[in-house]
Amino acid sequence: MTCGAAVPARACVTQVDYHSKQFLTKFHPAPNSRLNWSLPVLLFDGHLDLALNGVDWNRDLRCEVDDLRAQERALGMTDPGRCGSTLSFPELRHAEIGLCLSTLLARQEKEINHSFGWTTPQTCYAMAHAHLAWHRAMERAGYLRSIRTKQELEFHVEDWKSHPQTAPLGFIQTMEGADPLLVPDTVNEFYEHGLRAIGLTHYGANRYGGGTMCEVGLAVDAIPLLRRIEELKMTVDVTHLSDVAFWQVLEYFSGRIHASHQNSRRLAPWQRQFSDEQYKAVIERDGVIGIAFDVIMMQPGYVRRVSEATVTIERAVENIDIIVQLAGNARNVGIGSDLDGGYGVEQTPADFDRIRDLQRLTELMSRRGYSDADIAAIMHGNWIRFFSEVLPE
Ligand SMILES: [Zn+2]
Repeated sequence: MTCGAAVPARACVTQVDYHSKQFLTKFHPAPNSRLNWSLPVLLFDGHLDLALNGVDWNRDLRCEVDDLRAQERALGMTDPGRCGSTLSFPELRHAEIGLCLSTLLARQEKEINHSFGWTTPQTCYAMAHAHLAWHRAMERAGYLRSIRTKQELEFHVEDWKSHPQTAPLGFIQTMEGADPLLVPDTVNEFYEHGLRAIGLTHYGANRYGGGTMCEVGLAVDAIPLLRRIEELKMTVDVTHLSDVAFWQVLEYFSGRIHASHQNSRRLAPWQRQFSDEQYKAVIERDGVIGIAFDVIMMQPGYVRRVSEATVTIERAVENIDIIVQLAGNARNVGIGSDLDGGYGVEQTPADFDRIRDLQRLTELMSRRGYSDADIAAIMHGNWIRFFSEVLPE
């Protein structure tokens, strides 16, 4: 599709001085690290809702982002997030994103007209299967490659390095909110379909426990589910747990954990973000934490559809700094952009236009003195190491 309408450049706001040095107290990267990041570096995105875009939003991700935007504009689509997509398969290649975690996302909500939910567990189960089928269809069309084992991960990384222009986008299947699991044992069935990571909750409480914007703990069904996840040696995504449920998961689950798209409460002080203690708990279990690019998770007091984004991409690097300093090294942080996760460019940093802008992180980190090795670890190496330990043979 080539709708071809020109997209006006997004106005950039004045750069804000974030007094970045205040974060550089414990961790001192090499002073003379790499100065030239002119080439893009492989990027592993720890959180993308590709199937949500392909199925629920009915977007043809084979198109360029400009075409997706132009099509929605031409159709007069005014719902939040429309006309402002930031990714598609060609755009992900421009962004040098070679691997990602891709979600199955179907949340249960009471209202039949809810913009983001389905009213029964059975419908959530069906929608998760629609997302599975979309991934499978895109795999057959050559756009995606499912990664289920260590060997497949190794093969894919090598293939991407050798053929960055033609290798498909590698994805590890994850589930954001366990609402599609009819009963705890349903996780076995999804495992057979390639599921390797799972978060129990999303926004609000579901049948397994409390999530973002509510403070209830785990439900009784969470315990057998966590046991089953541990037996399957999957990783639990602790993003989107309520605070009380977060600490309960750490108590009841002794397998691997990660936080796929999880910013700091220091920078956006409300419950969606993690406190330093939560970050430290993930670091202690050698999990990886992905930095998200949704402005509600970056900018204090940001109100969806009301506020203007004033933070810039630099804010993501501040967030990286916080985790690096809590850990004392750069081993536990990566990117989990959450881009086009139910919002568009209107809800991203002021100097951000589309997902290739994530590559600007390398220059920003380099300016702060991050070494080549640490930048590569944050862009892809930490997630790859984590999943090379988590995935089965
Ligand atoms: Zn999310």
